[in-house]
Amino acid sequence: MPLIKNCKSCCKPIKNNDACRILNTKINLCTTCQKAMNPLFISFRVLTYQGLAIYEYNEFMRQLIYQFKGCFDYELCKVFLGNFAQEIRLMYSGYTIIPIPSFQGDDETRGFNHVLEISKAIGLEMMPIIQKTGRHKQATSNLRSREEIYQFLRLKLSPDLRRKKVLIIDDIYTTGSTIKAAINLIEKLNPKKISVLVVAKAMVKKVNK
Ligand SMILES: [Zn+2]
Repeated sequence: MPLIKNCKSCCKPIKNNDACRILNTKINLCTTCQKAMNPLFISFRVLTYQGLAIYEYNEFMRQLIYQFKGCFDYELCKVFLGNFAQEIRLMYSGYTIIPIPSFQGDDETRGFNHVLEISKAIGLEMMPIIQKTGRHKQATSNLRSREEIYQFLRLKLSPDLRRKKVLIIDDIYTTGSTIKAAINLIEKLNPKKISVLVVAKAMVKKVNK
């Protein structure tokens, strides 16, 4: 009897004739959900640096990321990186990853850090040198609250990065305030280059006025 697998996103059993069973048995995501994920590889600028987002941040991604970090669903790490872990490793060959941390208390409750797991899965050298000393509500939109993130991120180590190319990794990019705060800290260590990689980025809707 074939093993019944359930989709990591919608939880429905994956049919044996589903393309994902045939093409890729490593990722338990039904074809419908795989299509909904829709990797776009969006390039963007953050301050003066180059950023890349694998997905657009939409309701589907919001749910999936919540499930990943809120429900200890380690398996979802593979889902986010899909089949691109190796491509990303090649694309950023020679880079050192600096993951954006969560507030340590949250990681202790969760038992793992989701950004760290994604970073590990990419398989490049990693330097978790940034620490988050408090919780910040990302959803808050007023400028003062967004600026507060600067008070929460700090360097726990100050290694010499002059010979290093640095890849800052985070899960979600909305206002960019966290990434910018991290860049601000990392610039002080004079790395040769800074690039940014995020799992999902909110797209700014252009308003015609
Ligand atoms: Zn599904």
